[in-house]
Amino acid sequence: AQQSVITFHDGNTIPQVGLGVWRTPADIAAPTVRTAIAAGYRHVDTAAIYENEDGVGEGIKSSGVPRSDIFLTTKLWNDNQGYDATLTAFDKSLKRLGTDYVDLYLIHWPAPTRNRYVDTWKAFIQLKKDGRARSIGVSNFYPEHIDRLVAETGVVPVINQIELHPDFQQKASQAAHKKLDIATQSWSPLGQGKLIDHPVIGGIAKKHGKTPAQTIIRWHMDSGLVVIPKSITPSRIEENFQVFDFALDDDDMAAIAKLDDIGARMGPDPKTATF
Ligand code: NAD
Repeated sequence: AQQSVITFHDGNTIPQVGLGVWRTPADIAAPTVRTAIAAGYRHVDTAAIYENEDGVGEGIKSSGVPRSDIFLTTKLWNDNQGYDATLTAFDKSLKRLGTDYVDLYLIHWPAPTRNRYVDTWKAFIQLKKDGRARSIGVSNFYPEHIDRLVAETGVVPVINQIELHPDFQQKASQAAHKKLDIATQSWSPLGQGKLIDHPVIGGIAKKHGKTPAQTIIRWHMDSGLVVIPKSITPSRIEENFQVFDFALDDDDMAAIAKLDDIGARMGPDPKTATF
C-alpha cells in the first residue's frame, strides 16, 4: 500500500510514517536507515544531539534511493540557540549528514530559561529563505512558545514534534496547532515500548489481525498525526511500516481515547526543563 503524506502550510509534504533514530549508535544508524528505506520508509528523524547524523547520511547515500525521494529531519540542540550559533550548527549538521539541504529543521526544545528561541527562529527563517531548510518547525513547544514566535516574527512553524502516545494524547496542544494549521508529530509514539502490552491495544490489534505496535502507529495516523516509531531491529522496522492496509474504526478510536492520562508524560516537561 502507498505511504500517506501530510501537507504543511508552506505547501511541502511529509510522509506520515518515518523512522526515529534516537539512541541509535552512529555505526548502527547506517544499516538501520538502509533497512528502513528497503522496507519502504522515505522519512528519517534525527537530531544533532543523537550523534548519528553521519551514519544517517551514509545510510541514505548507500540506500540506492535518490536523496530527493527521502524526507530528512534534523534538530538544533539547545546549546546552539541564538542567531549566529544556529547558522553555524546548521552548517555542521549538513556536513555530517553529507547533504546540501534538509527537508525539515526543528528547534529541539524551547529551553525557555535560555530565552533565545525567538532569535533562533529568525535564523531558521533565513535558512528557509536560502532553501537549505525546505521547511522549518519546532519541537517540545507549548502553545504559548509558538504564540511568541508568531507574534515576534509573523512566521508560523509548519510542525511541532511533541511527546504523544495513547496514554498521553496532548489534546490541548493538538487543538492549538489545528488553529494555526501546524502539523502535530508524535515522539515516543509507542510510549518507548510500554504500551505494547496494554490490554486495550492488544484487543484492538487482535480484532484487525495486526500487532500492538502496528495498532498504535495506525492510531497516530488515524488521528492525523505524523509518527516516527524507533527500532533498530530489522523485523520490527518492517513490522512498523506494515500499517497501510487497515484502519481503526470509531469503536477502536473511542476505546483508545479513554486511555488519555495527563500524568503519563515520560520525558521532561519543556516548560521547566533546564538543559
Ligand atoms: P518509541 O515510542 O518509538 O519506542 C521505541 C521502542 O519501542 C523501541 O526501542 C523498542 O523497545 C520498542 N519497539 C519498537 N517497535 C516495536 C515493535 N514492533 N514491537 C515491540 N516493541 C517495539 O520511542 P522513541 O525512540 O523515544 O521515539 C521515537 C522517535 O521520536 C525517536 O527515535 C526520535 O526520533 C524522536 N524523539 C524526539 C524527541 C524530541 O525531543 N523531539 C524525544 C524523544 C524521541
